[in-house]
Amino acid sequence: MTISNATMPLQSAQIGRLPFVRHGITKRVVGLGEADGNISYSEPRDPVAAWAMRQLWCERMGIDPNTLVTAHQVHGPEVGVVPQASAGTGSAPGTGLFGKFDSLVTNDPNVAVMMTHADCLAVILCDPQTRSVGVVHAGWRGTVLDVSGNAVRTLVDRFHAAPEQVLAFIGPGICVDCYRVGDEVIDGWRSGMPAGGDDVINKTNGQWHFDIASANELQLRAAGLRPDAIERSGICTRCHGESWFSHRGQGPHTGRFASIISVIE
Ligand SMILES: [Zn+2]
Repeated sequence: MTISNATMPLQSAQIGRLPFVRHGITKRVVGLGEADGNISYSEPRDPVAAWAMRQLWCERMGIDPNTLVTAHQVHGPEVGVVPQASAGTGSAPGTGLFGKFDSLVTNDPNVAVMMTHADCLAVILCDPQTRSVGVVHAGWRGTVLDVSGNAVRTLVDRFHAAPEQVLAFIGPGICVDCYRVGDEVIDGWRSGMPAGGDDVINKTNGQWHFDIASANELQLRAAGLRPDAIERSGICTRCHGESWFSHRGQGPHTGRFASIISVIE
C-alpha cells in the first residue's frame, strides 16, 4: 500500500452521501510524517509535526484545517456547542482549546469539530435536516456518563434536530475481547445503563469485558436514533494497531487519530 492510498480517512457511507458535509477519521500510517500520522499536540508529541499531519488529513477530507476546533478532553459527559466566533480554536499550535469537553457540536459551516482518540471510541453525528453535526470521544467513563446520548440531546435542544433523523457513525475503538475492565467500569455502567445493557458486558474466565461500541449504540438508540441510522465501522484499534493508534496496544505515548466533521456552505 502506498502512503497516498493509506492517507484516505475512514468515512461513513451514509454521511458520505450528504453533499453538504465533509468528514472523516484519520489513521495511523507507519512512516507518515514524524509520528506515523499522529494529530495530537500533547506531550511527548511534537505539535509542529502534528499540525502538518492535521493539514494533510484535512486536505483529504476537503476541510480547511484553520477551521478546526478541539477541546481539552476529560472523559466527562459535557458537550460543547461551538459558535462561528470560535472557529480555529485548537487548530494550529498555540490557538488554545475550546473548553473541557468530550463532545463538540456545531451547525456553523466555518467550524470543523474534532476529537482525538487511541482506543476510546469515536462517534460522529449528523442531522441532515438542520445541518448540525458533532463528534464524541467515548472511553468507559464518558460512556458510563452517556456522553453520546448527551450529544444527541444537544443537537435536539440547541439546533432543533429530530432524533429519528440523526445519523451516527460509530468509528474505531477497542473491541470487547481486547477491553478487559475492572469492577468500577461494570458498576458504573450498571448504575445507569439503558435497556439491553447487560448484553454489552461479559465475564470470561473471571475477567470482565466491556463492549464499548455496543454500549454507545444502545445509548444512541435510547436517545431516539433509528437502529438503521447507526452505522458501525466494526474496527478494533488494538487488533488493528498497524492502522490505528491504540493506548493498550502501543502504550500511553503512542499517537492519536482524529474524528472530524464539518458542514459546508
Ligand atoms: Zn480487539
